[in-house]
Amino acid sequence: CGIVGYVGPQNARDVVLEGLRRLEYRGYDSAGVAVLTGEGMATAKRAGKLANLEKVLAEQPLPEATIGIGHTRWATHGGPTDRNAHPHLSADGSVAVIHNGIIENFAALRGECEAAGVEFASETDTEVVAHLLAAEYTRTPEGPGRLAEAMRAVSRRLEGAFTLVASHVAEPDTLVASRRNSPLVVGVGDGEYFLGSDVAAFIAHTREARELGQDQVVEIDRQRGLTVTDFAGTPVEPKAFTVDWDA
Ligand code: GLU
Repeated sequence: CGIVGYVGPQNARDVVLEGLRRLEYRGYDSAGVAVLTGEGMATAKRAGKLANLEKVLAEQPLPEATIGIGHTRWATHGGPTDRNAHPHLSADGSVAVIHNGIIENFAALRGECEAAGVEFASETDTEVVAHLLAAEYTRTPEGPGRLAEAMRAVSRRLEGAFTLVASHVAEPDTLVASRRNSPLVVGVGDGEYFLGSDVAAFIAHTREARELGQDQVVEIDRQRGLTVTDFAGTPVEPKAFTVDWDA
């Protein structure tokens, strides 16, 4: 339902939670965050209002991090439980993913993962993306843009509507996102980047934005900056716009 991502110098947890608060107007039944450090991935998620998540975070604080993702969920597959809340992790814990929309062919993909021995932790259509991405990453040649390349390969296999944002423990300075039939905007600040399902996610921080087109993948990397391609990997120039409404 609501998506936030952040790469920059600020405390990612605070930026992400603030973005989620601004997306509350869309309605949701659960919320969660993941932050990435050189040490690995840390997540927290809860059914119910953001206040429930904030309570958990007060009791078990996440590590300081400058890259993170957050989600407010409106359940379509699997009830509104803690387990079904996003982010979802791959079985090996290497990948965290958040998703808006519906993966129509998730049952077939889930069957394929289960046949390969993967145990699922939720009833969502989303979780399959985390497992597929982790597996695809291991098959993708090393080098800059590896996670984005894996995301393109997975995206080509998905049917339905999705905005996806993912991170991988092997790329602690990178977020990737993908979209089809579901919106995704990037906020460009001074040495920082934001991802959002709509501009409300980052309106407090920047007015400079890029709109992703249909079937595109964006990589945000602390060193390399912003790179957008189609699902085949052909570079595309995202549409730039300035947000002109009041925060
Ligand atoms: N289909 C996903 C789920 O049920 C995402 C729902 C959403 O857009 O929030 O978890």
